[in-house]
Amino acid sequence: MGKASRDKRDIYYRKAKEEGWRARSAFKLLQIDEEFNIFEGVKRVVDLCAAPGSWSQVLSRKLYLPAKLSQDSNDEDPPLIVAIDLQPMAPIEGVIQVQGDITNARTAEVVIRHFDGCKADLVVCDGAPDVTGLHDMDEFVQSQLILAGLTIVTHILREGGKFIAKIFRGKDTSLLYCQLKLFFPLVTFAKPKSSRNSSIEAFAVCENYSPPEGFNPRDLHRLLEKVGSPSGADDLDCSSGWLEGPNKVYIPFLACGDLSGYDSDRSYPLPRNSEGVYQSLNPVQPPIAPPYKRALEMKKASAQGAQIDFEKLALDSSNKSSV
Ligand code: SAM
Repeated sequence: MGKASRDKRDIYYRKAKEEGWRARSAFKLLQIDEEFNIFEGVKRVVDLCAAPGSWSQVLSRKLYLPAKLSQDSNDEDPPLIVAIDLQPMAPIEGVIQVQGDITNARTAEVVIRHFDGCKADLVVCDGAPDVTGLHDMDEFVQSQLILAGLTIVTHILREGGKFIAKIFRGKDTSLLYCQLKLFFPLVTFAKPKSSRNSSIEAFAVCENYSPPEGFNPRDLHRLLEKVGSPSGADDLDCSSGWLEGPNKVYIPFLACGDLSGYDSDRSYPLPRNSEGVYQSLNPVQPPIAPPYKRALEMKKASAQGAQIDFEKLALDSSNKSSV
């Protein structure tokens, strides 16, 4: 798809470039905030799966930059924003970056160390695996990212804090809802206006972190499995009867963002100048080392008729993946 054609077909893509956001996802977080006021009183945040960084930009613009500009910020610590992703990300003012895999315990430890014994007020996770198109598979891998996020949450979120996580709606949505409900009395699945209706994506907005009494983060997976097993579920109120029949769980689902605003599934005409020309903007910050970079280089080289040394390429990539 050409740039102008994408600008026409995807209004949030165009608006993101106009407003200086690295990705259209920025609007999703902004629209969730409009509904749930997630930034109120927030001083410490973790942005999981942050690249290319539009959510981190939102956090910087909403929390860090106002505090920096405010007169009386001198005697207070500036907000702490820690962003993690597998991919490297161009710097953002006020955001500490960690490159790593959130499913790896060592990455979680690095994040926790940045908080130096303090707790976060908010954890956001917009993680997405490379989508295969097989919904069950994509939903499963996505749920693994959420559980990795929840592991970090149980170590780092203060009681009363919030967790926002991207989910893929599917057959296990009720199970995920029940798992999140173990830790948050209030869980809503929200669909921001900027998230296409045609996408199975939604966001779990989990409020008022309250782990079960005596909870030890090391027991997390045992506890979650208990919700997932019919025999062990009886004493967990939202899942008795294995989520079926009269005990079926009804998940609060909320559309958010200005509902009379832009529809992400519609095409909008492009604004043209007096000569009838539309000037498309460049992306705000292209990814600095995207995983597809190598493939593009190879495609370009083969288009130019260059001999590709596949043995060398295989060796290079196996060296890279072992780092
Ligand atoms: N919120 C980001 C923004 O606004 O720019 C967009 C996030 S993008 C949809 C999903 C990100 O999840 C990708 O950058 C990907 O590298 C990251 N990701 C996927 N699996 C991950 C993992 N296991 N650990 C860390 N990051 C991961």
